[in-house]
Amino acid sequence: MEHLEEIRQSVRAICASFGEDYWRELDKTSGYPTDFVKEVTKSGFLGCLIPEEYGGAGLGLVEACVVLEEISRSGGHPGAAHAQMYVMGCVLRHGTPEQKQKYLPAVASGELRLQSFGVTEPTTGTDTTSLKTKAKRVGDTYVINGQKVWISRVKHSDLMVMLARTKPIEERTSKTDGLSCFIVDLRDAEACGLSIKPIDAMINHHACELFFDNFEVPVKNLLGEEHKGFKVIMDGMNAERILIGAECIGDARYFIDKAKTYASERVVFNRPIGQNQGVAFPIAQNYAQTEAANLMVEKAARLFDAGKPCGAEANMAKMLAADASWKAGDTCLQTHGGFGMSREYHIERKLRETRLYQIAAISTNLILSYLSEHVLGMPRSF
Ligand SMILES: Cc1cc2nc3c(=O)[nH]c(=O)nc-3n(C[C@H](O)[C@H](O)[C@H](O)COP(=O)(O)OP(=O)(O)OC[C@H]3O[C@@H](n4cnc5c(N)ncnc54)[C@H](O)[C@@H]3O)c2cc1C
Repeated sequence: MEHLEEIRQSVRAICASFGEDYWRELDKTSGYPTDFVKEVTKSGFLGCLIPEEYGGAGLGLVEACVVLEEISRSGGHPGAAHAQMYVMGCVLRHGTPEQKQKYLPAVASGELRLQSFGVTEPTTGTDTTSLKTKAKRVGDTYVINGQKVWISRVKHSDLMVMLARTKPIEERTSKTDGLSCFIVDLRDAEACGLSIKPIDAMINHHACELFFDNFEVPVKNLLGEEHKGFKVIMDGMNAERILIGAECIGDARYFIDKAKTYASERVVFNRPIGQNQGVAFPIAQNYAQTEAANLMVEKAARLFDAGKPCGAEANMAKMLAADASWKAGDTCLQTHGGFGMSREYHIERKLRETRLYQIAAISTNLILSYLSEHVLGMPRSF
């Protein structure tokens, strides 16, 4: 426990040099937090999940959660770089020894940015196993044609892990058969058949549309077994969900801190607004919800670190924490009255950012569907 507090304090110290105005300016200009990412990489926190033998800190998800929670809580936006922490998990768990040696030390040092994850497609969306982007084996390469959408940080990544179809849908033996995973080198990709178009979006998440036109990936960049790439992607998803849950806990605590401070200081009708229980109670409710959600995030992270099944807990952690942060954000804005709408107070930006987690990386409905079917054993919906 003591070491978690030390991590917390170290991350806070880094974040203190990147105040809320830094993040507001980036939001306004669609800028990327290059200096912040450099600092977090230098400190070793961004590579903290990479084992020591590959140059990382060899820490667990419990520690990684504290890092992301604190970045969120400081008013920052960890979504700009959080994937550097977990996309590498696909390489760590499914890569060949050569792939691990080639990529993991360079990701740990920050020399390579592996923080793009290319799954979602415009015509299939949540229905991942129906995706249409094709990768056709031709000699020593796979030739990729198709389209992806909402792929974050592509312009700020050197590498992307992506999923494409290697077997026609009519020939698959199960829903997940026939999809393969690839490590895509993005560095000269735009000259070789990949077009990248940034999406003008509600939050500064650097998400893009990708168009593959006879784009070639060497066979040695296949990650995991051919046709079994869905498993490679799925294996990384519990970590992603738990880490995003921790970010949401950070957001919720940020909103609660701001709301309680403002409610105690703002005087209307000659008394602090927090003296009105109509103002105080929603904040107290958010606090209780956040603490409960945090217990689930911690439980899921501990199970993950112990190598135990944690699908249900990871999904619940993400959903409960995302709900807690969204509700706390709404309360915080309401507590600030009109000022909540002013960009100067940062609340509206954080509220936009935390809203994403009702939708991505998995939407609340899909989590409920997973719990209904796989945990409670109710009839399959789709
Ligand atoms: C800012 C941003 C960044 C993102 N970054 C990435 C990224 O880096 N990589 C990546 O691969 N993807 C990324 N995504 C995509 C994200 O994962 C998807 O948007 C999300 O999975 C939902 O897919 P969709 O948008 O196609 O919605 P759809 O699948 O069209 O669904 C629309 C709505 O219908 C609901 N719905 C659909 N089917 C069902 C059903 N059977 N039962 C109940 N409800 C249903 C969904 O819950 C959703 O609310 C990002 C998205 C955003 C907005």
